[in-house]
Amino acid sequence: MSKVSPSFSLSHRGRLAPSPTGLLHVGHARTFWIAAQRATANQGTLILRNEDLDPQRSRAEFARAMIEDLRWLGIRWSEGSDCGGPYGAYSQSERRAYYLEAWRRLRDGGFLYPCICSRKDLAQSASAPNDTDDELVYPGTCRARKDVAEFMEPAGVNWRFHVRDGEVVEFADLNLGRQCYVAGSDFGDFLVWRRDDVPAYQLAVVVDDVAMRITEVVRGADLLKSTARQLLLMRALGVTAPDYFHCELVRDAAGVRLSKRHDALSIRHLRESGMTAEKVLEMAGWP
Ligand code: GLU
Repeated sequence: MSKVSPSFSLSHRGRLAPSPTGLLHVGHARTFWIAAQRATANQGTLILRNEDLDPQRSRAEFARAMIEDLRWLGIRWSEGSDCGGPYGAYSQSERRAYYLEAWRRLRDGGFLYPCICSRKDLAQSASAPNDTDDELVYPGTCRARKDVAEFMEPAGVNWRFHVRDGEVVEFADLNLGRQCYVAGSDFGDFLVWRRDDVPAYQLAVVVDDVAMRITEVVRGADLLKSTARQLLLMRALGVTAPDYFHCELVRDAAGVRLSKRHDALSIRHLRESGMTAEKVLEMAGWP
């Protein structure tokens, strides 16, 4: 019997997915540099995606700053015809129609339910978020609601993905090895659409990684549990997941992981204080 070989080769497609909610810091420099190096090593394509979904927290000046800082670090991405928007980047704020379509498919497939719990209800009943994950484990209060079919649009309530309690989600991380999380305890029924009519991070990222044919996601280890959630979403949508490479987190002198509140360790600040890009990457633990 003759061997059937695919008529195309699956080439590497990576992405940089910063959120313009503050200045990029040394931890981002590390993650994005690794993503760029891996794309180059695999003769792949690197895509920039501006994750500006949250209208309350995203600011155009931070989007401009992140583009400048990435360029200053020497990171280059595809500006070819497959990248729309300014700076050769996709912007999530322009991609609502894709997220809405996915919401409909998930709702019709019975994977979602509307949730009317307030932040206060959640704070009182759910377990506290830990160091590396900031979504509370939802106690399931609205799981039994029977009114899903009444919603033609997602707005007005929160929408949650119903996880199977006790299900083990396992994946082989290209950097950190085997990862294993338990649905219902490591994370609960997570948000896919917010009541203020903003698609949630988990849904938008999955839809975009699939639509942009991403083959490898490089991101910080703070998103490991998000990856587990995203694998469940991809299974529900019937799509193939990319590979994952989670980078160790960069911490400050006190051992606290860097966040956008660490202004002194922002790439912008270090650059303005006269530091070279090489030095910033060295601080970020590279190579
Ligand atoms: N936009 C997210 C962030 O800046 C990262 C998204 C991802 O890598 O999936 O934290």
